[in-house]
Amino acid sequence: MNTRGFSKQQLEQWDDRYVWHPFTPHSIYRDERPLTVVAGEGHHLIDADGTKYLDGVGSIWCNLFGHQREEIDEAVREQLDHIAHSTLLGNTNDRAVILAKRLLEWAPDSLGKVFYSDNGSTSVEIAMKMALQFWQQHDGGAENQRTTFMGLSNAYSGDTIGAVSIGGIDLFHSRFGPMLFESVRGPSPVTYHRPDNQTRADAEQQFVDQFDATVDEHGDELAAVVIEPGMQGAGGMITYPDGFLKHAAQKVRDAGALLILDEVAMGMGRSGEMFACQREGVDPDFLCVAKGLTGGYTPVAATLATDRVYEAFLGPPEEGRTFFHGHTYTGNAIGCAAAIATLDIFENDDVLAEVRRKEKVLADRLEPLWDHPHVGDIRQYGLAAGVELMADPDSRTKFDSVDRIGANVCCAARDKHVFLRPLGDVIVLMPPLSITDDEIDQLVEAIEYGIDEVVDL
Ligand code: PMP
Repeated sequence: MNTRGFSKQQLEQWDDRYVWHPFTPHSIYRDERPLTVVAGEGHHLIDADGTKYLDGVGSIWCNLFGHQREEIDEAVREQLDHIAHSTLLGNTNDRAVILAKRLLEWAPDSLGKVFYSDNGSTSVEIAMKMALQFWQQHDGGAENQRTTFMGLSNAYSGDTIGAVSIGGIDLFHSRFGPMLFESVRGPSPVTYHRPDNQTRADAEQQFVDQFDATVDEHGDELAAVVIEPGMQGAGGMITYPDGFLKHAAQKVRDAGALLILDEVAMGMGRSGEMFACQREGVDPDFLCVAKGLTGGYTPVAATLATDRVYEAFLGPPEEGRTFFHGHTYTGNAIGCAAAIATLDIFENDDVLAEVRRKEKVLADRLEPLWDHPHVGDIRQYGLAAGVELMADPDSRTKFDSVDRIGANVCCAARDKHVFLRPLGDVIVLMPPLSITDDEIDQLVEAIEYGIDEVVDL
């Protein structure tokens, strides 16, 4: 293996010595068999010892068409012959312009403008700041009391302060309480962990009713409501009741608030439509896109907004309507070139039809896992799924979190040359959209093997 002169052992030593990893408990990091990735090839990651692993989580949900994908590689290389980066502050570049036009062609009709940033968190943070400023400037500020944001329990929109403030995962978020702003927290769509005397249908109805009640209670003060369409991802791959998004969008609209859809995880084809909201025919005020936008190559994000929102920001500079937000690498040309090549692949390879087909393949392959004595729930949306492991599904008894069952199952899956990363005891499947049917088999087999290796049956 070409590690460019450094052995795996040397790299591991320096990694332990110098690198602080995100979302990683370092006291046990090395025990959980981290890869030292030196290359990627198609749907596989290549470790410094030369072993190949199927990338079952698409490098944390962003890799859509494999590593070293020829068309994207070519676009990036070609871009280097022109320019790597120039600023978008008061300036533009050809790749950013073309990408914006192309993205809007795919996006819901309500959206007319693209504001770039670098990651999913900032794409949401920007939508929130835009919403707040919109109400200060729209209609002479007639509704400038709209300063509150609503998120859902169990939601995750990233790690910046605004995103964390509307987030709802206590494990990640509660520690930062003193630096957050107050927001309204709607109910959680988690229905699996319901009381024994409640049916799933009742739990779903209760969720919808509580959502409505929360919007009703805070209607006039709400600047915007933030929802992850399709699935709450980091919250544990949680699905919503059928038709919820459409219902919620109407409810938010009736309350006069703006709707921010965080499609950082579920956008870019994962649902079988380019954007998950299009599966339910919902037109948001803001659509946040990141992760897969560049096919998983470089950090480019976009906040798509309506013309109505944009127009509230127009006026002579001295009126102070300008949106004062922007990052150094906003509209980065290499990233935008990768994103344009990614959209080309969507167009050339009929990706969405294939995702819809593979959604069924994945569902079929996961079906037998329902009979596994430690599988409590299987939730799928498009080509994304979560398999929730339980000590005893019948009594809905969880494993003790100190046992790190989910992490250990993923660790064991390495024996089968599969790379997975869980969310607690939920095993996550977010493969590249171009995954083959055989590789889907391999993923599911690795999960089954991993559970049997780790849990005493
Ligand atoms: N929103 C959602 C729905 C996400 O899943 C994530 C990341 N997992 C984010 C926002 C944050 O994106 P990033 O990590 O690129 O900041």
